[in-house]
Amino acid sequence: MSSSGELHRRRSAAVARGVSSMIPAYVSSAGGGTMTDVDGREWIDFAAGIAVTNVGNSAPKVVAAVKAQVERFTHSCFMIAPYEQYVAVCEELAVRTPGEFDKRTALFNSGAEAVENAVKIARHATGRQAIVVFDHAYHGRTNLTMALTAKVMPYKQGFGPFAPEIYRVPMSYPFRDGGRSGTEAAAYAIGQIEKHVGASNVAAVLIEPVQGEGGFVVPAAGFLPALAAWSKQAGAVFIADEIQTGFCRTGSWFASEHEGVEPDLITTAKGIAGGLPLAAVTGRAEIMDAVHPGGLGGTYGGNPIACAAALASIETMRELDLAAAARHIESVARPRLEALAAKHPSIGEIRGRGAMLAVELVVPGSIEPEAAGTAAVARAAHESGLLLLTCGTYGNVIRLLPPLVISDDELDRGLTLLEQAFATL
Ligand SMILES: *Cc1c(COP(=O)(O)O)cnc(C)c1O
Repeated sequence: MSSSGELHRRRSAAVARGVSSMIPAYVSSAGGGTMTDVDGREWIDFAAGIAVTNVGNSAPKVVAAVKAQVERFTHSCFMIAPYEQYVAVCEELAVRTPGEFDKRTALFNSGAEAVENAVKIARHATGRQAIVVFDHAYHGRTNLTMALTAKVMPYKQGFGPFAPEIYRVPMSYPFRDGGRSGTEAAAYAIGQIEKHVGASNVAAVLIEPVQGEGGFVVPAAGFLPALAAWSKQAGAVFIADEIQTGFCRTGSWFASEHEGVEPDLITTAKGIAGGLPLAAVTGRAEIMDAVHPGGLGGTYGGNPIACAAALASIETMRELDLAAAARHIESVARPRLEALAAKHPSIGEIRGRGAMLAVELVVPGSIEPEAAGTAAVARAAHESGLLLLTCGTYGNVIRLLPPLVISDDELDRGLTLLEQAFATL
């Protein structure tokens, strides 16, 4: 096998520069809480491929299901000749997502595609156009989802013009909004919507229940329920983008459940299929079915191999109780992070839910973002063999997203490497 150095030379001559990689090492295998590169070095995985391999890489049931399916048939296109696996994934999503009401699901390939379709469905069902999104939001990189995403660099810079009828309002961000309560922050956001958009024009309010790329921002209690209630009253569709928070990541199947919120539509992707590309929009039957036959779809959406992987992933989450595993990871990691914060004045806040935990770095004694220090900690972590991601509008947040099957020993080793990386500050 080629070395990472050789592969990097080949890559530079063949792969577009716009697609970048966090570390210079090339993967050879991965599983549980670790990854091994082609040079034989082992890494502790605190990234899970951005909250994708919640069941771990090459989870046994996923591997078996994929092998069996790939031998039966690889693709027929659900829009031409349907198959059971697609239907079974939609049945599972109806059961697993919050809300006891009648639901329907449509399957797609990527998170951005799911978000695009949720917007299409909401506009069709309401006959309205305006979509309300929030500061720090991340919803993808396609043209419509770039418009929905907040951060310019690197996601939007030079890629305009952007889609119209997108309106951005303030997010509840307790660490940065003076500790506004959830109801105060919601009242402020709703005031902005009513003044600048008009309630009767809003097709959908689209929000991540815990923001991902934007910095693992957990809104103050009451913010999400207030927005969901306002949406209902305004006749707008309340869409929860659970692409990063879904599938046991936050300690429950979906993050909306922490506050008893039942979104009209939920977008999912990332953790759904153990690493195979699959995404979904699930929601109230009357909204989903407002769209005429043929109005939704795509060549590969709900590919049978990805569906087989999703069914095996969901079974694995249920059997291993990975929601409980996420809570366990939090119970181990949070006290370690709190202790780290007590030692390092540049740590402004520890936050998150379940196995979606963040460390926000600031200039000591202020809330001024400390991006350079954050990058330095991440670099030190990478040099020591820890796969660690940063995030945040200001690039000053370190995020922990380990596979939910990580062992206590691997978690402990990873946290130790993180603690050592902070020593570089
Ligand atoms: C990753 C992500 C997306 C986009 O998903 P892709 O599969 O990369 O298109 C959308 N929303 C959220 C919250 C995400 O984390």
